[in-house]
Amino acid sequence: MTELTHLTISEARDGLKAKSFSATELAQAHVDAIAKARALNAYVLETPEKALAMAKASDEKLAKGEGRALEGIPLGIKDLFCTEGVVSTAGSKILGNFNPPYESTVTRNLWNDGAVMLGKLNMDEFAMGSSNETSAFGPVVSPWRNDGTHLVPGGSSGGSAAAVAAHLCLGATATDTGGSIRQPAAFTGTVGIKPTYGRVSRWGTVAFASSLDQAGPITRTVRDAAIMLRSMSGPDAKDTTCADLPVPDFEAAVSRGVKGLKIGIPKEYRVDGMSPEIEKLWHQGTEWLRAAGAEIVEVSLPHTKYALPAYYIVAPAEASSNLARYDGVRYGLRENGKDIVDLYEKTRAAGFGREVKRRIMIGTYVLSAGYYDAYYVRAQKIRTLIKRDFEEVYAKGVHAILTPATPSAAFGIGEKGSGDPVEMYLNDIFTVTVNMAGLPGIAVPAGLDQQGLPLGLQLIGRAFDEETLFAAGQVIEDAAGRIILPQPWWA
Ligand code: GLN
Repeated sequence: MTELTHLTISEARDGLKAKSFSATELAQAHVDAIAKARALNAYVLETPEKALAMAKASDEKLAKGEGRALEGIPLGIKDLFCTEGVVSTAGSKILGNFNPPYESTVTRNLWNDGAVMLGKLNMDEFAMGSSNETSAFGPVVSPWRNDGTHLVPGGSSGGSAAAVAAHLCLGATATDTGGSIRQPAAFTGTVGIKPTYGRVSRWGTVAFASSLDQAGPITRTVRDAAIMLRSMSGPDAKDTTCADLPVPDFEAAVSRGVKGLKIGIPKEYRVDGMSPEIEKLWHQGTEWLRAAGAEIVEVSLPHTKYALPAYYIVAPAEASSNLARYDGVRYGLRENGKDIVDLYEKTRAAGFGREVKRRIMIGTYVLSAGYYDAYYVRAQKIRTLIKRDFEEVYAKGVHAILTPATPSAAFGIGEKGSGDPVEMYLNDIFTVTVNMAGLPGIAVPAGLDQQGLPLGLQLIGRAFDEETLFAAGQVIEDAAGRIILPQPWWA
């Protein structure tokens, strides 16, 4: 029998139902794997007692034939989601030992469907980053490659992607403001979907940039992503930006195929200096979809080149406002000062890392009188134009758009961004447009580069049409074959 930690969510679900193993055995196998993989630094907090208690409750439900959609499925939770009674840090020192008295809607939905919590996953501080190197808990090490160089798993959901790839959970929650689900998924050979803005409630998820943030799953297969997203999604009275729409049976869409669908290839994503490997992968993806019956059309998204600069105005602006609440008074870290202003300053100086401080300064600058019109207002106008580009393409009958997920495979820890932050920001060149337009996007593993590292393709969908992404994503997964991690080196 396959090792329990190597099952997919759908296989584990079937195995539990057939009583081939118990939820307790499944949870224990993961607890053991996590304890052996601390070198990866994927989990910032392990909750084995909680996992086993939840698994026991699942076994009781299963015994009575009352198993719910995710009954007994062990998951890792990005530490951006507030979990009741379990320390939640957002990867930052400033939250200290913040122990939320409430549960985020996403995690509540997962537990209501019977899922089991293994622990909290490492991430870039406040989800700002593309390599998981800005975490106050230190970088996550990718489970890929071990020839002396340690690779990043991508970010900001680096702990989520590494844990899923290294079989330290069957699936993980993640969040994506500019690419933080899709880029780490691509770097680790996993599947990640950022749903349409409003598909998933943001309530109880620590805010980075509220108009861009969306939660989604990272899993090992497209089907698993569909299963998990269905449980995470749904209307929520506590988040007014969460859409009041029924959640489709995403799993049913997985086997739909792409016959008769029109897939757009945006010429603006053929960026200068694009590596021939990425170019080849993209072409390969096009051929796979064509062979499965899709019609491939060239499309134009003319404002693409402004997306990254506009994102780096909008996201820091919102972040600077959202992060104003961390002042040492209400919760988290407090550094005492001689008066209240001194307390604020000392707390924020000690509690935030470099990248977060940079974002707060950029955000405050672009929102300040005299610069607001020149930067923020312009960036918002660009955002409208980016959205319109997509609307025009979709109005011509295009069902989804295929692009590379990242401009390269994973890089080494410490290799990028120390001198010039823009070097790091460029990682999101293919993903930020999707957040700016509020659309859904999925990253699916599509092959290995010459060094044997995973590469992903991205499919961008129409608003609230994640189903087409699952259908087309499955076609890519079938054609590419599952990307299997070589022998673990960390255990
Ligand atoms: N890498 C981007 C940033 O640093 C996106 C992060 C994210 O999606 N959370 O802002």
